Formats: sequence, structure tokens, C-alpha cells
Amino acid sequence: MALATHGHGHKPLGQTLVDLRKVGKHYGRGDKYTEALRGINLTIREGEFIALLGPSGCGKSTLLRIIAGLIGATEGEVLYRGQPLRGVNPNTTIVFQSFALYPWLTVQENVEAALEPLGIARLERTKRALRLLDHVGLDGFEMAYPRELSGGMRQKVGFARAMAVEPELLCLDEPFSALDVLSAESLRGELMELWLSGTIPTKAILMVSHNIEEAVFMADRLIIMDKNPGHIVAEIQNTLPHPRRRKEKAFLTMVDQIYAQMVGKTRTEAEELGSAPGEPGLTRALPEAPISAISGLVERVNEELTNKIDVYRLADEFVNDYDEILPIIEAAEVIGFANVEAGDLSLTPLGQAFAEGSIQARKEIFAARLRRVPMIRWILSMLKAQPDQRLSWDVFIAALSREFPAEIAERQLDTAVDWARYAELFSYDNSDNALFIEVEQPIAQAIAQPNGAPNDH
Ligand code: ADP
Repeated sequence: MALATHGHGHKPLGQTLVDLRKVGKHYGRGDKYTEALRGINLTIREGEFIALLGPSGCGKSTLLRIIAGLIGATEGEVLYRGQPLRGVNPNTTIVFQSFALYPWLTVQENVEAALEPLGIARLERTKRALRLLDHVGLDGFEMAYPRELSGGMRQKVGFARAMAVEPELLCLDEPFSALDVLSAESLRGELMELWLSGTIPTKAILMVSHNIEEAVFMADRLIIMDKNPGHIVAEIQNTLPHPRRRKEKAFLTMVDQIYAQMVGKTRTEAEELGSAPGEPGLTRALPEAPISAISGLVERVNEELTNKIDVYRLADEFVNDYDEILPIIEAAEVIGFANVEAGDLSLTPLGQAFAEGSIQARKEIFAARLRRVPMIRWILSMLKAQPDQRLSWDVFIAALSREFPAEIAERQLDTAVDWARYAELFSYDNSDNALFIEVEQPIAQAIAQPNGAPNDH
């Protein structure tokens, strides 16, 4: 691995590639009018890996397409290397969520096909294709046809094809989101290796992502957007050295910082969350709402164009009695998915990301938020202190009963288990009446062996 020779793996910043000045974009007119982007100022310099985060509909894809020159801006200036961009930008390639490979061509021919229009000689085309396929871990599959490959391998062919063209700016539009956890992790590792070691001549990378941990793992600058109309709400520099470790404190702090930006909270978090049993301060009871109700509510609010709904209307649709909606709303607030103001419940960008995420993305978002809830943190730390990471239900009830009436203690623990089970943090075993920590996926291993790709079959 070449990572070591690059010190901390950060690239020196070079010349400005992209310069967007007050860029706006609207689609359609009359009834169909949509303002997709407003007032976007953004520069991308050589050596930068930038991630765009935000709820769907905030204009991430539109921004990517404007930079690639596939569509024009309707306001402002789009400069590439200081020159106004006209038509398709020949210096960029976009990698999409899933690739349309030619089914009648082999893997190698699929990559070579992208080089043909560039007027690259046949021998060089073959050389480049073989080299890139090797780099992404597809050595030995050159003669296979797309139908013979797993989804993860097909995506690798797509990456090889995009990189064989040697774009100056590589644009990635949620390239890992259609893959299973392990394939995604291995492909991320491979891309980082190619980027940081300078094996590919790519000068900068711009990636759209739904996944905050993925963005923190890969990017040096994170740009957070919100919608109606699409605009930039925050930019966060990520100076953590490579290779980044997801379990490290600094990594988790960075992830938290970004969640906080996306949560847009009204009260301070300490006030919001209270403290855990046994800690000084008020133990805040978990709002007694099952995860199914919380996600149902978030999905419902997300259907509103404004991401906002009158609380009474919500209660009308959801429950028989107005009071029953309150714990669900409170839970959505505690988790950071929603805010209530003047009788309206509105989703935070994080709530929107949850509503629109895949099942896996939802679990990740929910788990990251749950780890901050004192009651859950307390249960996790109690379990982790045990050699087999199990502890009897009654031990927790005894502790909780010092702070709550007995029946509430039971319901509190029920709620905690319901939430934690969904987030795959801990669960309950009927056979011995104990809580236990869910076995974690071997993600760290997948990062450590980026060329292994043992997960493709
Ligand atoms: P994101 O990638 O963040 O999900 P998009 O760039 O796809 O956001 O969309 C931003 C807004 O522009 C959305 O409201 C979307 O409905 C609208 N939009 C995107 N593409 C078109 C189009 N071709 N015609 C009309 N509206 C569009």
C-alpha cells in the first residue's frame, strides 16, 4: 500500500478547478416551476475530496450535473479553470448509483468502449482497461459478462470505466448506495487507496452521499445542503488523517458535529437529553413510542412539500386521541428528526434523510443518534462491562426503579429495547431474560483489506 508514503494522506491544494458564483437553477415554468438551487457559491481545488450531503430534493444531483456541464445554470456563473463552462465538461466523469453496462460486451470491452470516443489507440485502450480492472480488484474477470457478476462487481466495472477516462474531476453520485454493506466498504477502501496514492491522475473528487459516516471516512470538506430551494447551510473541514478509523473518538466527534448541523436543534442537547440513571441531574424518561410509529410519522411529514404539518392534523390522521401523538412527536424531537414550533411539526434535514434513506441508511442514522441518548448509552456501557456482554433484564429494572415507578421502569426498558433492536445496538433474549449486545459487522476488516473483496459472491 502506498498510503504510508503520503504521510497523513492529505493532498496539497493546487489550482482552482471549479468556481461557482451565485449559481441558481430552476426547472419548468408556470405550474411546473421548481427552484432547485439558489445562491450556490462553491470552489473546488486540486487535491480536494468534497462530499455533498443533504436530504433528497436539495439539488445535489442538479449541482453535479451543472458542474459536469450536462445541464446549464439559470443564474450565476460556472467557471472551470477560470473559463465559463459551455456544454459538456470534458474534464469530468460522473459515476452513478448503478451502471448501464453493455450486456453483450465483456468486462474488459465495457471499459475499453469508454475510451474509444477519446481517440485512444487500441493497444493503449487495452492496457488502460486491464490496469484499472486490476486496480479495482477485478483481475481475472476481464472476460466475464456483466450478467455473471454480482452488483458490487458490476459497480467496480463502472468505476474502472470512469477512471480509465482519467477525468480531472471525478463526480460520484451516491456510487455505493445500491451495494450491500461489505461490497460498499471494500469499494470505498479501493477508491481511497487509488486516490491517496496518486495511482489515478484524478485531481479532485466530488461525491454526493446520503451517508454521513461514509462522507467523514472519505472527504476532506463536507458541504451540507437543505432544500426549498436547494442551498448550502454549512461547510465542515475534515482534517482527520488517513486512513480513517470509524471507531476512533475523533472520527465519532466529527460525525456528531455533522449530525448536529443536520439536526438544527432549538434547545441545547444537554437540556434535550437529560442524564442517565445513576448520573447527577434529571433522568429523562424515553418518550414511549415504538420505532414503527416514529418512522411512520417522519414519513408522513416528509410527504408534505414544505416538510411541515400542523400537529392537530397529524393527530387526526394517526391516533384516536390527541394525547397519543405527543410521545411520538417527543421521540422524533429527542432523536433529532423533528422540531415543533407554533403548533407545526417540521422535519430537520436529518429527519428528511431518514425518511428517504434505504433500510440500512435508516438504521445507521438511528443508531448514531441513539448512542447519544443517555439511557441507551447507560445500557450499552453496562452491557459492555460484562465479559459476555449480557446482563439480566432485572438488573436494569432494579436500577430504573430507583428513578421511576415500577411499571414505568418496565415500559422504559421495553422502549429502549424496541429502539436499540431496530438500530442493531442491543437486543433482548427471551430464553434467559437478558439484554445482550448485537454482534457487529466486520466492517473494520473490510477496510483493512481493500483488495481482498471476499464479499462478491
Ligand atoms: P437531490 O439530488 O438532492 O435529490 P435534485 O437535484 O434531484 O436533488 O432535485 C432538486 C429539485 O429539482 C427537486 O425539487 C426536483 O424535483 C427538481 N428537479 C430535478 N430535476 C428536474 C427536472 N429534470 N425537471 C423538473 N424538476 C426537476
